[in-house]
Amino acid sequence: MSAAPGAASPAEGALPSPLDFVVEALAEAGALAEREGARAVALLPPPLAAELEVPEECALALYPERDGDVACGLGSTLLERLIARARGRPVSTAVRLAADPPRPAQVRAATDRFVLRNGLCEPGQTSVGTAVYVAASVAYGVEADDRREGLVRVVVNADDGGEPDAAVCALLDLAWPSALVRPSAAPRVADGRVAAWIALRAERAVRAAVQPLLGEVERRHARDHDRIVSYFADLIAEARAPRRRADPAAVEAKVAHLVAERDAKLEALPARFAARVTCSVAALVTAEVPAALVSLRLRRRKEARDVVVRLPAGASSLDRLTCEACGAATARPAACDDRMHLLCEACAPNAQGRIACPACARRR
Ligand SMILES: [Zn+2]
Ligand SMILES: [Zn+2]
Repeated sequence: MSAAPGAASPAEGALPSPLDFVVEALAEAGALAEREGARAVALLPPPLAAELEVPEECALALYPERDGDVACGLGSTLLERLIARARGRPVSTAVRLAADPPRPAQVRAATDRFVLRNGLCEPGQTSVGTAVYVAASVAYGVEADDRREGLVRVVVNADDGGEPDAAVCALLDLAWPSALVRPSAAPRVADGRVAAWIALRAERAVRAAVQPLLGEVERRHARDHDRIVSYFADLIAEARAPRRRADPAAVEAKVAHLVAERDAKLEALPARFAARVTCSVAALVTAEVPAALVSLRLRRRKEARDVVVRLPAGASSLDRLTCEACGAATARPAACDDRMHLLCEACAPNAQGRIACPACARRR
């Protein structure tokens, strides 16, 4: 489902009509489909017709009133099948943010807050341009004794992997389209580095998101374990109760049977509670955003390095920079001594003294 020219603009905030969606989805799947007022006619390739279980030649209507009309309104089988088909593969689209670039005072304020943890920075020239970001929605599932699903989003700059602040990420969330978002014909970004940044950060985001879910699975596992143990402990105590006048050999046989049954149940638990985490890219949005670009001279002891930092429209803080060792985003980099590599808090936890730079180590 791409934002084809002429498609309902996400900026309008309204959902497209199911008929529009069906016509567009059929056309994308290889059918000829054309809208005629409140109805549409479609000619489907035989395999598609068989898959969707509709005639190869059919009339589509939101409210089927004529003989042979195929319903495609909300709740109709055809619409459900096409939605399931569309959900089965990643969606990609391109948008632009129709916003003014940040004002000079905002740019100055954001730049003043930039911190190099172990050095100084001097702001230089500011220019205005367009920044390109890729926002990826990554769906994850946790499957154990039940199934839970969720979505994380990561947004990276297509040129340097920088990460905009939460306000910009929210503007680029097409699940709740901002009025500033417009469809764009900009080419989609297909770049190995961008894919690597997204994979790295999405993995971390998914790990954080599934942690509490895995904790719940563990708690349910422990709870079931305790229940089984205490249930059989009661049965065994009952079997051995002195008030029951039974043959001691029969009692022990009964107990041995209960113990075996309990152990079999306990052994089956780990398989039931073994959690499997899966994730896949659900949607990619390429977004052009007006931005102010500020050149900064970073100084560390006798070394200096020029970098460009960025404040996109809608942001209140500069884009976080990409750690040159691990690829994570960092708002407070430290620079290594030899090559002024910019490093995140995890790669350079201590900004005092000489930094053992992982990026330099890799070059050797
Ligand atoms: Zn790092
Ligand atoms: Zn280094």
